[in-house]
Amino acid sequence: MCPVDRPIYLDNHATTPVDPRVLEAMLPTFTVMFGNAASRQHAHGWEAEELVTIAREQVAALIGAETEEIVFTSGATESNNLAIRGVAIAHALRGRHIITAATEHPAVLDPCERLKREGWDVTVLPVDGEGMIDLGALERAITPETTLISLMAANSEIGILHPLREIGALARERGVLFHTDAAQAAGKIALDVNADHIDLLSISAHKMCGPKGVGALYVRRRNPRVRLEPLLEGGGHENGVRSGTLNVPGIVGLGKAAAIAREEMREEAQTLAALRDRLLERIRAGLSGVEVNGALERRLPGNLNLSFEGVDGDSLITAMPGLAVSTGSACVSAKQEPSHVLRALGIGDERVRSSLRFGIGRFNTLEEIDLAAEMVIEAVTRLREMSPRLE
Ligand SMILES: *Cc1c(COP(=O)(O)O)cnc(C)c1O
Repeated sequence: MCPVDRPIYLDNHATTPVDPRVLEAMLPTFTVMFGNAASRQHAHGWEAEELVTIAREQVAALIGAETEEIVFTSGATESNNLAIRGVAIAHALRGRHIITAATEHPAVLDPCERLKREGWDVTVLPVDGEGMIDLGALERAITPETTLISLMAANSEIGILHPLREIGALARERGVLFHTDAAQAAGKIALDVNADHIDLLSISAHKMCGPKGVGALYVRRRNPRVRLEPLLEGGGHENGVRSGTLNVPGIVGLGKAAAIAREEMREEAQTLAALRDRLLERIRAGLSGVEVNGALERRLPGNLNLSFEGVDGDSLITAMPGLAVSTGSACVSAKQEPSHVLRALGIGDERVRSSLRFGIGRFNTLEEIDLAAEMVIEAVTRLREMSPRLE
């Protein structure tokens, strides 16, 4: 397909385009500065190591961490697995209970499920109709056996932000480690691992205009020092927590993406929220029977999740070839199941099936938002006329 004909991209929760400034920073690492960051005996290695050090500083700065607390990984899926499994196994003698919530990403729920099969107790907290957990229920779920609470910073489908600071304070008070999957939140909202009492935090580069296949796990080194059982063993890279030759191009890209986000996040959030509000306003002005899924407040600035009464989401997507949106998480839709997130909010199957997720990102324009609203209104109207609901 010719580039000019490509659909308007409003699926920035699935992935984002690489920022040209990120690409520019990465390019020399493929050809000239191609060294192995673990090569200690020549300039190629030192140069690569220096690039990795800079990236580590950039990632640490984004979340208020120290450089030694950043472990580079292949993405947030690996970071989540390492955090959950790594903590659970390293602390198995102390207790075998972990707490998470029903709206988490599969990269959190599935490792928890595996631990459950291996004998751990797993509490999966419910959420209310807005997508929020009940802090009282979280507190009551903690037992002397609990070693980890894993609750995401921002939801990938409905954008809901968990109250990290309150959760972190509670975890700290009870001597339980707190992990947060911040794949959607990092670079979008302010995160501070110390103020928020976070012990482990997962980041993915490709959700913040960096490359795919690279991410990081923040692992607290002081008060308390977090112990982790590695998933991958080998050369002892990353302080023995994650062996494997470092993906220098990816790491440089992640670092640059983090630096740009840190610089531009505040302003970008306002722009994205304004575009999001405009999209909602326009759609509502042209259509009845439109519901917002999840609390409209307390969500990622670029997120909107809507259901369109009487319309099937998949049919709606097919009816809008000029618009790239999705019915839910790309990872979940690979399994072709209705969204576990929307169902956890208590939303009925029919409304779940009529829902679309809009993810607005750095490179979307006002013109695109207006065009997108027109396409949605036109397609929903047409589909409703084709199959009028029985009164
Ligand atoms: C995208 C995403 C992941 C997975 O990240 P990868 O880097 O693609 O492995 C995990 N959690 C959330 C919330 C996500 O949005």
